[in-house]
Amino acid sequence: MEKTFAVLGRIYSSFMPMRLNDGLVVRDGKVLYLGDADSVMKISRELGAEIINYGKKTIIPGFIDSHMHLNSLGMSLMTLDLRGTKSIDELKLKLRKFIEGRDKKIVIGRGWDQELFSEGRWPNAMDLDEAIKDAPVILVRVCGHAAVMNSAAISLLPEEELKGPYIQKDERGRPTGLVFEDAVGRALSILGEALDKREMLRKGSEQAARLGVTSVGFMSAKRADLFALKDMKELEELKTRVFLYMDHAEISDSIALDLKYGTEMVKLNGIKLFADGSFGARTALLSEPYSDDPSTRGTAVMKEDELAYWMKYAIDRGLQTATHAIGDAALDSVLKAMEISKVKGLAGRIEHASLVRPDQVDKMRTIGVGVSVQPRFVISDWWLVKRLGKERARYAYPFKTLINAGLVVGFSTDAPVEPLDPWLSVNAAVGRGEEERVEIFELTKHERLSLAEALHAYTAGSAELLGANDLGKLEIGKRADFVVVNADPFSGTDLKTIRVLETYIEGTRVYSATTENLIF
Ligand SMILES: [Zn+2]
Repeated sequence: MEKTFAVLGRIYSSFMPMRLNDGLVVRDGKVLYLGDADSVMKISRELGAEIINYGKKTIIPGFIDSHMHLNSLGMSLMTLDLRGTKSIDELKLKLRKFIEGRDKKIVIGRGWDQELFSEGRWPNAMDLDEAIKDAPVILVRVCGHAAVMNSAAISLLPEEELKGPYIQKDERGRPTGLVFEDAVGRALSILGEALDKREMLRKGSEQAARLGVTSVGFMSAKRADLFALKDMKELEELKTRVFLYMDHAEISDSIALDLKYGTEMVKLNGIKLFADGSFGARTALLSEPYSDDPSTRGTAVMKEDELAYWMKYAIDRGLQTATHAIGDAALDSVLKAMEISKVKGLAGRIEHASLVRPDQVDKMRTIGVGVSVQPRFVISDWWLVKRLGKERARYAYPFKTLINAGLVVGFSTDAPVEPLDPWLSVNAAVGRGEEERVEIFELTKHERLSLAEALHAYTAGSAELLGANDLGKLEIGKRADFVVVNADPFSGTDLKTIRVLETYIEGTRVYSATTENLIF
């Protein structure tokens, strides 16, 4: 990367404040100079630097997806996509088609949602057995907190696992095939061993580069992920920067201290914790019962003391925590745990913060928390008003409120829960489901963001959450991670249709949509 080159184009070097430039000079992977076309050309001539002229094309800082699952994303690219399946019958059909003529050691599927099924019920092992009997099958629900397995897959789970509380049983005590919460991840990691980890991560990172995502916060990473990433050839095999947040069960002092790992491309950043589950499975922890099931207000996964223990553990080892908190009562637990452990500011990230009561905003500001939010949830969770009731739903996904409170807000997709394509999330943050006619739009339209706010959150906001101050903007001295796109997002173009033409990391082109030679 001992290379100096210049780029000309319509360059948004920062969104807040909004800064436009005609050109930038890159040296050794960092921004050396920004300015108008004349000065950039003059400097390039003097330095003998090559100039890449993108003409009227738009260049923006690389997107930073602050919360996603690189392993599951890679796995999803190797597995069956069940999003939008309308019935259990259709699900069976898709399964049969997927294995047709192929020798599958295992079938992993993802994305079903029983809310969409015409049968009006959850799928079970018997349904799956009717489609595939010989190979193990596991199909993860769209939220990632529930899965259904066939009999062959259930038979591969250890005896101990089957006794666990998250394995659903029928009245005779036999597993129905449905598993929930922690059991989903464990079943996937047992069954997923048949898949190649390195290939999985490579595929995930290639997808990121293709979509202009130059850095990711990789949540709930396992040791095997860390080891595989360390072995990968950076920029060749690994095409996005990876900030790891390890599953708390996978962390130990030998990982946190001895092995605390960091290169330009892969860095161990923190520990992932869980305070609750999801709205979809009614396991997100609410302070009042669910409106469509008054018998429950959700499930606490980790309580305050346990959260506080890990927060203290992390900060003592120079790591962040990133705590999953969807319901408002889960958010209470996280804020309480931060008080107990005396962890302040960005050391204790909050993931999702999907339901925030007005009285919690002040507290969040006082502690100075950073929040990673997923704008696409506004559209995907179209049934949310049913779960929460109209009154409470007004406080769901309060992006504008959090930004106005001065909190650091980073964007993310939770991919593969939502598609990794950043423009879909930007569109959701700006439109808030008006176009998609989701019920929550009317109740929460005051939470719409401006395009500049959304793009800022997806670049500089996410960078701040990750503690990566040299990313997120194209400023002198910062890393030259940028994306060339086919349309100016501020020109009124349909955001969902914007395409990435080229992706650069550290001044190296890691993706190009064409083979056309743009260099002269
Ligand atoms: Zn997640």
